[in-house]
Amino acid sequence: MPVPAMPAPITQFPRLIFALFGIMAIALYLLWQALLDAEQEQARARLQLEADALAHQIQTRFEQQAATLLRLAERWPQHRANRDLWTENANQLLRDYHNFQAIEWLDASFRMRWIEPLNGNEAAIGLIYPRTHPNYPLLLAARDTGQPRLSNSFELVQGGLGLAYYIPLHRVSGDLRRFDGFLLGIFRVEVLINDLLSELQAADRSLRLEEQGVALYTSESDYQAAPWSVSSPVTLADNSNFVLVMQPTHQLLASTTTHLPLMVVVSGALAALLLCISLLLTMRGAQRSQQLARSNHQLQAEIKRRQDTEESLKHNQARLKLIHDMTDHSHDALFIIGLDPMEVVYLNRTCWQSLGYSEIELREVLRIAPDDVMPGAIKWLAELRNMIHSQGNAIFQKRIIRRDGRSSPLEVSVRHLRRIGRDYLICVGRDNSEQLQLAARLQQLSHQDGLTGLFNRRYFDKTLVSEWRRLRREQTPLGLLMLDVDHFKRFNDELGHQAGDDALQQVATALNSCLMREGDCVCRYGGEEFAVILPGAGPQQCVQVAERIHDAIATLGIRHPNTTVAEGLLTVSVGAASLLPQPEWSPHDLVRQADTALYRAKAAGRNRSQLAVTTDDQPK
Ligand code: GH3
Ligand code: MG
Ligand code: MG
Repeated sequence: MPVPAMPAPITQFPRLIFALFGIMAIALYLLWQALLDAEQEQARARLQLEADALAHQIQTRFEQQAATLLRLAERWPQHRANRDLWTENANQLLRDYHNFQAIEWLDASFRMRWIEPLNGNEAAIGLIYPRTHPNYPLLLAARDTGQPRLSNSFELVQGGLGLAYYIPLHRVSGDLRRFDGFLLGIFRVEVLINDLLSELQAADRSLRLEEQGVALYTSESDYQAAPWSVSSPVTLADNSNFVLVMQPTHQLLASTTTHLPLMVVVSGALAALLLCISLLLTMRGAQRSQQLARSNHQLQAEIKRRQDTEESLKHNQARLKLIHDMTDHSHDALFIIGLDPMEVVYLNRTCWQSLGYSEIELREVLRIAPDDVMPGAIKWLAELRNMIHSQGNAIFQKRIIRRDGRSSPLEVSVRHLRRIGRDYLICVGRDNSEQLQLAARLQQLSHQDGLTGLFNRRYFDKTLVSEWRRLRREQTPLGLLMLDVDHFKRFNDELGHQAGDDALQQVATALNSCLMREGDCVCRYGGEEFAVILPGAGPQQCVQVAERIHDAIATLGIRHPNTTVAEGLLTVSVGAASLLPQPEWSPHDLVRQADTALYRAKAAGRNRSQLAVTTDDQPK
């Protein structure tokens, strides 16, 4: 089953949500500002309307008062002639309008002549406008144009700021119209404006009347604290130097300011927050499903891995079972010994079946008395333990004892292995009795003469040397007989080669029968010659054996058709020698002595023995 690809992790999402929330917060802030601006603009427009209306009302009110003065000026011809009438009319005007500080007549030479009321204005009586007076140019203009003029504010001689409204007066006599000074209305600025405003019900407004940027009047003490203002030009008579500046009062601000921007911002913020939270929750959900997908993926990978492991395990188990079966059916005994602690870890079936035990029985015997199964096993196991430090493997020849007491050889091949921190000895045992028998047989064959079954020349040479050395150590004599069949060539010639062979075999059997002592051995020296090794035999004993041989050959009674020796029977000649082996002599010396003695026996007529002569035959 293929494992699906792992989904890519969501990492950008939270940042996007925060960015979105930031953008929405900025947008909300801008919207809030726009709503506040709109509200302010609305309040400004409303205040502007009020300011314009108020300015217009101020102008109208002033014009009404100016008109009363103009009407008074129109009656100047009567008043010029009747000062009392002027005084009465002027006082009437003063009673009607309280804004006037004074109503005055300024004559053509700009001298203050009449003043009503006089009280409080005495300082002005007789005052001549100097050319330096700020209103002087205005006086000239009013005189020259014949139009009334309103002055800018100026410091009154009575103290305080005032405005002067100059109405040029003319006296007519016939067709002559002559300038006759000015009717002058003095307004005290503060009084005038208070009056105008009180009537206009503008007291609740925060306002200021400026003249060319200079405040003439301020209605509220916290005027400077207002955040913004509107202005409207005010033209009093012909003087347009006045500006009405109006600022919103707290009531106005409160009436024009609504909770809409705040509500919009708060609800917008809540909506943005909800949107972000829902996005965040969606993201969490996506992350959870992603984690789920990831853990699913891991689970699938784990399942796949376990399936693979299981399959591999099954495969290995099958293989192990196969190996186990095969090792159980092997002819070789396989057993594994674990070290530290030393214990038999594994035995194959051959081990216990070949010994006649069940597996449990064999394990028990090996645990309690291993020597009962393999003599010397305890010592051998101790040697094996040392073996792991010296060499990797070795082959041992051991013996095993079956349950029925039978014993057989066992060749054990041992190999040392170290696995998972423990040392093991892998032992393969094989019953090698056949092999040993075969080897022994081969050994025997290699030492045996094919025709007679006696030991051959090779064995003779080896044995003579080894016996010579052994007896030299023991200082015991070594006897040797050299035999040769007499006239054997003739025997062959007469009776054929096969008969010769048969005769040789009979001779060999006879020779064997003559040996009495253990260690004596007869060898075919070559052709029809034989040698008899007699360890421990001195000269006399050699002679005795030689005599027995002659008797035995005679007893055979083999017919020889062409012999000159003894009544037509097969005979042998013997040369005997015996030496006490000395370091300076060799086995060849003994052979040479026996050979010489044989030669002498032949020469002496055959069918006899000759002992090596001590004087002549001593080794040289
Ligand atoms: P002598 O008495 O002097 O020993 O005479 P001889 O004829 O035995 O001496 P010789 O050494 O001349 O001859 C030995 C003969 O032995 C020659 C050979 O034919 C025979 N012979 C040697 N080995 C064998 C054998 O294995 N089988 C047979 N049949 N004859 C053999
Ligand atoms: Mg010979
Ligand atoms: Mg011969």
